[in-house]
Order: sequence, then C-alpha cells, then structure tokens
Amino acid sequence: MDLAKKILNSIAITLPIALSPDDVHGHDKELQKLMDAGVVQRRAALTFPCGACGSYCEIKTLENRERVILCDSCEDARLYTLTDKEGYEFGISLPILLSNLLKELEFSIDNINAFFKDRLWSLGIHDINGTSREILFLRDAQDSEAEIFSFLAQKKASHPIVLSTISQRRLLNTEFILIPIETLLTSRGSGIFSKKRFEEILGRKGQTVSRESTALGSSELVLEKDTLLHSPDGFGNYQREKLEPMEHRIIENLYRRGCADKSKWHSRTEIASWLSVQEKSLSNAFTAIRKISKKVDIEIVEQHKSTKKYHINPDLVPK
Ligand SMILES: [Zn+2]
Repeated sequence: MDLAKKILNSIAITLPIALSPDDVHGHDKELQKLMDAGVVQRRAALTFPCGACGSYCEIKTLENRERVILCDSCEDARLYTLTDKEGYEFGISLPILLSNLLKELEFSIDNINAFFKDRLWSLGIHDINGTSREILFLRDAQDSEAEIFSFLAQKKASHPIVLSTISQRRLLNTEFILIPIETLLTSRGSGIFSKKRFEEILGRKGQTVSRESTALGSSELVLEKDTLLHSPDGFGNYQREKLEPMEHRIIENLYRRGCADKSKWHSRTEIASWLSVQEKSLSNAFTAIRKISKKVDIEIVEQHKSTKKYHINPDLVPK
C-alpha cells in the first residue's frame, strides 16, 4: 500500500492534496482500489510543467478543445499541446478516506468532525471492547501547535484512541498512545484498512496479565511469576520488569503477610527463614527490589527507619 502511505504522509502536511501521474505510476492495482473506494478521483489538472524549464504553467483549453500551455518562464516562449493522457491529477479526499476507515472497522460514520484546520478530527464515539471510546485522527501536528495538545489533554480522561500520521519515533508533548494509521493499511481484499489489525492492536488488553498474576492493591503494579508489570497504557499493555526468583519470593511473601496484617514488620532473619536461605543471600535481592521501586516510582518493600525491619508498602495490599 505504498500509494496509500504516500497519501497519508502527504495529507500530514497540507490539504487539499493531489497526486501527479508520476506519483501513481506503477501502482495501478492500488490506484484502482483507492478510486473504487472513492478516496482518489482522477480530475483535470489546472497546471502542467513546462518540458523545458519545469515551471508549472496554467493549462488553457482552446476553442478546438486542445489543451495547451504557454511557458513564459522560458526565454523563447513555448507553446505545448498536451496529449490526452497529460494534464490530469489524482485528487484525494481525506473525509472519504476517514469514512472508509470507519466503515472497514465496522463503526458508524455519522460523527466525523474536523477541528483545528483539519489537523485533528473526531471520528465519533464507538463501542470498543465493551467500552465507549472516542476515536481521534491526528495529522502531523507540530509541537508548537499548543491548542491541539491542550484539546487532547482535555480528552485524556476519556482515554480516546488516537490514530495518527505521526511517526511513532517522533516524541511529542503528549502522553497518548498513538496508533500510526498506516499500520492499519492492508493490501488484501477490496478494503484499504484492516479490522483484524486494529483488533490485534487493541486486543492485547487483558492478555498481558496472566491468570496467576496478582494485582497489588490500588497501585497499577501486577506481580507475575517472574515479572513485575507496571505503567499500563490506555489499552492495558504493561511495561515489564524482570524479577529473579529470590526477588519474587520476597515480594510475594511480604505481600501475603501484608494482606494478613499490613502494620507488621519483619526482620531479615525472619524473611531468610521463610525462604530457607542464608540471611546474607537476601542482600542482592533487596538491592534489586529497590532499583525496580525507583523505576516504577513506588516503594515496593518499605524498611523501618530504626528497627530496619521490612514490610510490603501498605498501598500494595487490598484495603
Ligand atoms: Zn518553460
């Protein structure tokens, strides 16, 4: 879908936009697909490049219906008569592209609204994985376009899904997970976008947390056998910190005891005896847990200032 990618990247910069015959050259099959969908329309061009100097000249239609250009940039003004195949361009309709996107994802197309000079679009509120969520389409907004980002910030609480022409590599002043819209393109079948791909991206929700996992209290931490999950995104995809067996056993034991009595502190000797290990072998694990705590920004295991005993952070056990 090279042509569709080209279109998506072009509309990122300026609207309206048309592709030249050179742009579509070699993309016959895809062009037909986009024309069938109504996204691209062949139309008469207003200008045509001069063969000698390359400057774009206005196309004039003569009485005999011949179309000509007269270049006034060249030293000796040249009259050129266009052939039947020349002087066309391929206009692109972003609204039709977006309504095709919604149709192919099987959503209603009734609430498409453009904001901020067509830089940000609302594609309506839809039922996604059992939750009502707004889908937004963000064109290549510049960091300087503060009004767009403050608008996005207002939308944050409702966890919209933001499709974007912004490359994932670009860092933006926004905390949204952006789905590059070009990742939804498909060359299969008659559609332009893939519903399956969209569902794959969203469908990770819930699958990242295994059945043996433990949600740690009101925090967003989840304890798994060899991993601590944290910082979930809007889709429930977590970041992961690897836990060595000893680290996992310490957290797990302190968690279970914290559930029973969160005010109770435990000495290193006690913890070593639960795990049937030498006390000194706990040191590395405690250091690793402190490092992970820093990374996830929550003290997982707390140490008493004077007694030096340990317990799980009371926020990590059920209330
Ligand atoms: Zn010229």
